[in-house]
Amino acid sequence: MRSIAGLHHVTAIASDPQANLDFYRGVLGLRLVKLTVNFDDPTSYHFYYGDGQGHPGTILTFFAWPGARRGRIGTGQTQATGFTIAPAALPFWRDRLTARGIAFEEPAPRFDEQLLRFTDPDGLSIELVAPSQADARTGWAAGPLPAEAAIRGLHGTILREAATAPTARLLTETLGFQQVAVEGALARYATGEGGPGSVIDVLTSEPARGAVAVGTVHHIAWRTPSDAEQAEWLAQLTDEGHPVSPIMDRQYFHSIYFREPGGVLFEIATDPPGFATDETPEHLGEHLKLPPWLEVARADIEADLPKIVLTGSVPQ
Ligand code: ZN
Repeated sequence: MRSIAGLHHVTAIASDPQANLDFYRGVLGLRLVKLTVNFDDPTSYHFYYGDGQGHPGTILTFFAWPGARRGRIGTGQTQATGFTIAPAALPFWRDRLTARGIAFEEPAPRFDEQLLRFTDPDGLSIELVAPSQADARTGWAAGPLPAEAAIRGLHGTILREAATAPTARLLTETLGFQQVAVEGALARYATGEGGPGSVIDVLTSEPARGAVAVGTVHHIAWRTPSDAEQAEWLAQLTDEGHPVSPIMDRQYFHSIYFREPGGVLFEIATDPPGFATDETPEHLGEHLKLPPWLEVARADIEADLPKIVLTGSVPQ
């Protein structure tokens, strides 16, 4: 049976683009690997943050909607987005968050993992997870933070669901996950070898109406290694009765979208071609990039976008 190869990216919604850049680059030390616009709405920025190369599985992206209303987490949404750090980096992060006045919680270990939990400037819940299984990824080794403390990549996400059985069936019977642990109302699923970047937790919750808007996750994307395998996923999901989008060209990967039974928007995205298709690996994220079909309208698009400052916004 084919199985999903882990997380590709998570996409969330921000309000002020500058505050978002300053937090994810300046505080968390992620690399802005692509500065572009929402291809479906080119009046909004689309920021991609990741490791040095923007490898699949390290990517958190944002649509920036200045002035939009705050969202609310309900069932059928993701509760938190986790990045991994080395366990030895926990003191570094406690000090760094404290020095920047960012309040954080340090809850009891979850599945043997220590974590720090805080929110970004728009209220999005972020966790830095020190996993029990070592994360071999290096993060942005040449970034602004000491290499040993750098965020390695995505760890996983938490789906908040009123009825978990249909979601569990999709994960295990279609997408190739296995349930690997249960702790209270939280069940953990893993794909492949498991470990960082390959886990998703499903939280059983009372039904609660939420709203996908600023400070919430818009969708989560899973990896597939090739266009050929993506076509197989599209065929299989369609056969199983899931309404799936056509394949969309996202310039840095190709995507299909469908909703899991609880309501969270899932995407399956190809690993290739990656972020070095329209700029060199050394200069990722330094200039606004547009796909060919929007390049013709660059002057209008640039005139409508809020002004942002990229240089000098990566304080140590
Ligand atoms: Zn996406």
